[in-house]
Amino acid sequence: MLRAFSRAWGEQGMTFWIDTHCHLDASEFGPYAPVVRARAATKNVAICVLPAVQVANFDAVRQLAHAGGDSYALGIHPLYVAQASDTDLGELDAQLRRYRDDPRLVAVGEIGLDYFVPELCVSPLRERQELFYLAQLKLARQHGLPVLLHVRRSVDQVLKGLRTVAREAVAGAQVDPSQGNAWFGIAHAFNGSEQQAKAFMDLGLKLGFGGALTYARAAQLRRLATHLPLQAIVMETDAPDMPPHWLYKTAGQRAAGEPQGRNEPGELARIGEEMAALRGITAADLALATTHNAMAALPRLRSLLAP
Ligand SMILES: [Zn+2]
Repeated sequence: MLRAFSRAWGEQGMTFWIDTHCHLDASEFGPYAPVVRARAATKNVAICVLPAVQVANFDAVRQLAHAGGDSYALGIHPLYVAQASDTDLGELDAQLRRYRDDPRLVAVGEIGLDYFVPELCVSPLRERQELFYLAQLKLARQHGLPVLLHVRRSVDQVLKGLRTVAREAVAGAQVDPSQGNAWFGIAHAFNGSEQQAKAFMDLGLKLGFGGALTYARAAQLRRLATHLPLQAIVMETDAPDMPPHWLYKTAGQRAAGEPQGRNEPGELARIGEEMAALRGITAADLALATTHNAMAALPRLRSLLAP
């Protein structure tokens, strides 16, 4: 199918990209989300994956995904567990069941652990985000869906959760045994050591790279982006966050009244060009490989990309 799709685009001599992490429903885009999406299409972004962050935006990501020919994920983000109610996990479960045949629902996400925000590192929110993370991993297994992971200062704990839940699922025979201990999905905005990257890869996960790699000072991240096996990598913008260096406003510029640059999915092509240059390959080759990787991580994308 990829070949058929690339042929369809290839006839026009085009490269295409998948933005595997884009918050198109964010208030920064507001009513302009369709305009932003259309602009991304002119930059050859074929599909965006729109992760939810809380029950209140489940409808928004689903509707935007359907309107724009994109895909979406349902989940509760660690930064939203403080305001989430105890019944939200049940609501997530119910919606995963209700939309199980929706081909645009491709994952459970965005879920994970955040030990960067101080309040989330101490009781009671530390335990609460861990509870939500583990419960959502279990839901992903039960519904046979991949995961989109938010990992901030929490690589080892996120890995531990993945291993624990996989082991329990296998022991409880709740999953297709062929899946074993492996996972489908993406560790988004990856920023860890090479060893940590390898641990995610060993579990079957892909690593998401975006605007952060465009900064010359991000030496370790650029080293990873350069040397990791190509089959481990998917591309993302995390728009409206994570502006690439050409959109970034310094603290001084912001103090002078300039707003922080707003990232958008259309930036993916230029981010991809920087990534390709780091690796010494063409942008077209990077686009083709990372599209293939995105479909391996999120298998339902295949049917959406078929012409
Ligand atoms: Zn996100």
